[in-house]
Amino acid sequence: MHYRRYLKLKPQILSGYGVVLFLLVIVVGWAVYNLAELGRASNEILQDNYRSILAAENMVAAIERQDSSVLVVLLGNDPTAAETFTRNELTFVSWLGRAQDNITIADEVAILEQIEATYLRYLAAFDTLQSLPPAEAQPFYVETMFPIFEQVRSQAVALRDLNQEAMVEASAYAQNTAQEAILSTALLGGLACALGGIFSLILSDRIARPLKIMAAATERIAAGDYDVALAVQSQDEVGQLAGKINEMSQKLKAFHALNVGQVIAAKQHSEAIIRSINDGIVVVNEASLITAVNPYAAQLFGIVPEQVIGEHLLNVVRLTAVVESVKATLECHAPTPELDELPVEIPQGDHKLIYSFTVTPVTGDEGQMLGVVIVFQDITKFQELDRLKSEFVMTASHELRTPLTGIGMSINLLREHAASKLSARERELLDTAAEDTARLRALVNDLLDLSKIESGQLTMDIAPINMVDVAERVVATLQTQAAEKQITLATDCPATAVLGAADGVKIAWVLTNLIGNALRYTDAGGRIEVRVAEHGQQVYTSVKDDGVGIPYEFQSKIFDKFMQVKSERAVGGTGLGLSISREIVRAHRGTIWVESVPGEGSLFTFTVPAVASET
Ligand code: ADP
Repeated sequence: MHYRRYLKLKPQILSGYGVVLFLLVIVVGWAVYNLAELGRASNEILQDNYRSILAAENMVAAIERQDSSVLVVLLGNDPTAAETFTRNELTFVSWLGRAQDNITIADEVAILEQIEATYLRYLAAFDTLQSLPPAEAQPFYVETMFPIFEQVRSQAVALRDLNQEAMVEASAYAQNTAQEAILSTALLGGLACALGGIFSLILSDRIARPLKIMAAATERIAAGDYDVALAVQSQDEVGQLAGKINEMSQKLKAFHALNVGQVIAAKQHSEAIIRSINDGIVVVNEASLITAVNPYAAQLFGIVPEQVIGEHLLNVVRLTAVVESVKATLECHAPTPELDELPVEIPQGDHKLIYSFTVTPVTGDEGQMLGVVIVFQDITKFQELDRLKSEFVMTASHELRTPLTGIGMSINLLREHAASKLSARERELLDTAAEDTARLRALVNDLLDLSKIESGQLTMDIAPINMVDVAERVVATLQTQAAEKQITLATDCPATAVLGAADGVKIAWVLTNLIGNALRYTDAGGRIEVRVAEHGQQVYTSVKDDGVGIPYEFQSKIFDKFMQVKSERAVGGTGLGLSISREIVRAHRGTIWVESVPGEGSLFTFTVPAVASET
């Protein structure tokens, strides 16, 4: 693969070291060369000069000894003197030969030639001296031979001086060379250091700069900027890394786009659903700040959705009942259906529309509260139908009530006065007719009451009353009935008065109806308990029995009209008692609900607003 072609980072670093190493080798080589040069200058030359000096000095010594032996020959009393002369001649010649073999300076040649020539003359003079008679020998020595001796000696001394000067010169040269070597080595070393430093800087910058750029790029990618395109300048590992980062950012971008696309699609989908729903939808977060409003709700409340996002619910939906229900739902983390039951009126132009609303909590995956969804449903038409129906029922019941009363009275008269003229069978028929008429009248009365309440014609005479009193009075009137059915009927009320804002007669009717139901749906030996308590702003009155209970599927329906759980016990009831109760409680701005476990019993509770007791 082309991978092999890449110039790797490692060779780059190694080549960097290589350059520095190369410079080091040059500097060291130069220093060694200089040292060697120095050695050569101070050793070899000095040695050669030294040899010449030694030869010159030995020549001087030899010729001096020869001169002495000549003097001894002149004295004539030592026969070995000539021998001494000859021995020293050999020494002289030997040193002269050595000096001739060791010529290091050009001038030496001429001096040595002179020495040789003069010395030959000296030897010839000695031969002459020996052949002369003693009387002539002495003057010959003084006049001829001694000057030659002096000449040879001075020439040898000149040779020595010449070499000594050369030595001094060599020493000066060596010193000079040493200084030059120190200077040039220092210069070269400095140059090498500078070059090495520059090269290292360039190399480290070359490696570090792209790494820094890449670090900045990865930071940008981490922050969500995927448009990072690093210029791939080299083909080494750093270049490869830059390429990989580019590739990664592109993949991340694509992945992100895909994800964002999916999220947007899902969001648009759910937004389209919310938009197309023909109910008003308002979504708020856990702080009651609006997060979404569908077009229907926007029109309903006369608002622009984009402008109300982030606004507090209270500023947009000015309906106390809704705001309170939302507050309660956010606090309890659960729907509060009893608060959503009352419809709300929303003005639309010159008329008012009736809306029911439901508040549903929105929870996260871990059950945390995210907010609530409020759905407003237009029930104006249903309310209108309901009103028309109530009016019809009211009129019909009203019209039926008078003739029914007449029929009832006639039957009773017949039973009292014509009984003796009738057969047993006919009397039985009359009794049944009386019973049916009574039930029909009860139904008609209930219907009339209900329709009156529903159409707002039954006015509530609301005043502060002691709910404990109401409970105890109702329980007292039903004690006989309970005793007949062998059911314990008890109260559990505070000793002090609990004041509620209520119509005493109608609220007593509600309680009578609830206890009546409990008596009907509880077996002999059972127990019914009536409780009154105050919590917050409400007075709670409850009737608890351990009777048959209510199947779950019926629990939400039993407050509807004519809704009865089919059983033998229900026979005789109208199925209107709980509907009337609910209407009465609602007219008090209270709520009524049931909690029941089939087979174990039921608990009916209703509330009326509490009245702060005067102290
Ligand atoms: P009814 O005249 O039939 O009692 P209600 O409206 O008072 O009409 O009650 C409706 C239905 O609710 C009853 O038919 C009965 O099935 C059920 N119900 C009411 N109270 C109780 C109770 N305490 N225990 C069991 N079921 C009850």
